[in-house]
Amino acid sequence: MGFKFEFGRPRIKNISEDEILDELEEVAKHFNYSYFRRSDFNKIAEIHSATVERHFGGSWSAAVRALSKRLKRKNITLLLGRQRGNSDETMFNEMERIWRKLGHRPSRDEWRKMKPIISYDSIYRRFGGWTNACLKFIEYKSGSSVVSSHKVFGKVDTSKTRAISPKVNATEIEKTRSISLNIRLKVLNRDKFRCVFCGKSPATDIGTQLHIDHIVPFSKGGGNNLENLQTLCFECNLGKSNRDVAE
Ligand SMILES: [Zn+2]
Repeated sequence: MGFKFEFGRPRIKNISEDEILDELEEVAKHFNYSYFRRSDFNKIAEIHSATVERHFGGSWSAAVRALSKRLKRKNITLLLGRQRGNSDETMFNEMERIWRKLGHRPSRDEWRKMKPIISYDSIYRRFGGWTNACLKFIEYKSGSSVVSSHKVFGKVDTSKTRAISPKVNATEIEKTRSISLNIRLKVLNRDKFRCVFCGKSPATDIGTQLHIDHIVPFSKGGGNNLENLQTLCFECNLGKSNRDVAE
């Protein structure tokens, strides 16, 4: 009998390099363009990592390099080594480090100069834009209410202001008294993301919401300058607000 029972089956079709790279790219996308291992690949891909390696001379890292090159042409950076699998927390920690060092919200160029462990592009990609990344960071640091905080107290202050100068209309007040994102960030950063009265911080006290407070109330002529602004938690801000009304 000339027939031999062989374990291996004939290859159904030869896979082209493009098809292999398509598959690699698909998996990379799944992992947010951070590094993935053979075992990760095999969980998701429709071809086996051995097929990939065989094509690239038996080397997995050669395959990853080819993928990295291809992604670069699309302006996507494949995160390798220590950058692999960044959690939001890792990203936020890095943002905090750089933010503190600079003393203000980092721009793209500033970020790149700070030798970050996470690239600008990967943060940009993860959060769909730099501004959004910064907002998400602040929300993470402040208990997710900084951006809308002035609205909560806008009503109180507006009525107070009206009592003093009835001619000023409410929308005008809202426009003037709303504090720009940049200023909010500066105040939070200066106060180290803690309530300056009781020291509570969202990082250590879950559920803490930070607000940007006017030291001299807006209704009494206090401005949006850094010296007149402070970080307060919800409770302390409410307490202060009530005292202001009583005065
Ligand atoms: Zn407080």
